[in-house]
Amino acid sequence: MSPNTSLLTVEQAQAFLLAQARPVSDIESIETSSALGRVLAVPLCATVNVPPLDNSAMDGYAVHAADLNPAGETRLPLVQRIIAGCLGQTLVRGTAARIFTGAAIPSGADAVVMQEHCTAEAGAVVVHRAVPKGENIRRTGEDIAVGSTVLAAGVRFRPQEMGVAASIGLATVPVFRRLRVAVFFTGNEIVMPGQPLAEGQIYNSNRTTLLGLLAALGADVIDLGIVPDELAPTVEVLRLAAAQADVVITSGGVSVGEEDYVKAAVAQQGALTMWKVNMKPGKPLAFGRVGDAFFLGLPGNPVSAMITFCLFARPFLLRCQGAVATAPLTLPVAADFDWPKASKRREFLRAKLDQNMVSLYPHQGSGVLTSVAWADGLVELREHVAIARGQPVTFIPFSELLG
Ligand code: AMP
Ligand code: MG
Repeated sequence: MSPNTSLLTVEQAQAFLLAQARPVSDIESIETSSALGRVLAVPLCATVNVPPLDNSAMDGYAVHAADLNPAGETRLPLVQRIIAGCLGQTLVRGTAARIFTGAAIPSGADAVVMQEHCTAEAGAVVVHRAVPKGENIRRTGEDIAVGSTVLAAGVRFRPQEMGVAASIGLATVPVFRRLRVAVFFTGNEIVMPGQPLAEGQIYNSNRTTLLGLLAALGADVIDLGIVPDELAPTVEVLRLAAAQADVVITSGGVSVGEEDYVKAAVAQQGALTMWKVNMKPGKPLAFGRVGDAFFLGLPGNPVSAMITFCLFARPFLLRCQGAVATAPLTLPVAADFDWPKASKRREFLRAKLDQNMVSLYPHQGSGVLTSVAWADGLVELREHVAIARGQPVTFIPFSELLG
């Protein structure tokens, strides 16, 4: 890798990063109930059927469907009562069993009539209508058949995948270990919240935003704090970071100014690729390696830092975490704004969604962090495209980018 300043499209930069990503190899076993956001390392194969036996989908009466009069009512002697968790006796032809949701279907029965269609009498039930064979029966293995693969390796656990793993009896699941991400923040002007702000200084908002983004991805974060705009301390912290982490992420110091030392430090300690991505906000993006660690240098402007994280660092980190799927779902929505002058760059605009129409925050500056706090997501406008109100645009909800 050699430093370069080529202008890449968003897709080229994303594809390059994904191709470089190397999933962690360490696997650990964790409690299924703690697996939220973790990535499954091995396919999960069912050793049981779900449901494990034919059971009733309703509170009602188990019958033999052929015993029911297709033209009218049928009175059947009520011979047993089967509650969930208990097994009934074989149902004799011409009789019915009271049965409850989740209870095992007795052999001999082939349908359940819901109780709303029946009238209970002393020792009998009057069934008001005929039902087809199989009515209200949940079949053995209809959800999951024994031997089938229920979750593929590389799946990220949402609550529903956790539930599926539990449904096949797994108290623990094998997942990739958490990714270790070291972060530091460059700038002589950067001050931690809680400290007094001298003239010329600005609070470090990127740290807090980034810690939130990384927490949502389930990363273990090593926070190395603020580094001044000088080469020696930048090199020192970079080496410290690379020695402990899978990925080092920084903000600031990667523009073309002579006070930007991150690039120089990475180039000196490892290998650096610098890009200008043809997008707004957040043109400069640095990628490289220092020792065994990957390096990602985000721009310093708070909106640029967050958006480049979401678009580039997030898929890269997910892939390093072992996840297969990394792309956010996007929505086609109608523009509630005019964009008369086509931009040469891909634009990611802070936008709010209302009734399938998106409107833009009035101040789209790359330092206006309140625009991101106001927004529900980003409108992605392709290069060289003007938009008139009502035309379709692509919307990326933050729910797809944060976590
Ligand atoms: P840089 O990329 O270092 O040239 O920084 C670009 C702009 O982002 C400058 O106005 C910086 O003051 C600002 N900035 C850089 N780092 C941070 C940070 N951690 N928090 C808030 N603003 C920052
Ligand atoms: Mg700076």
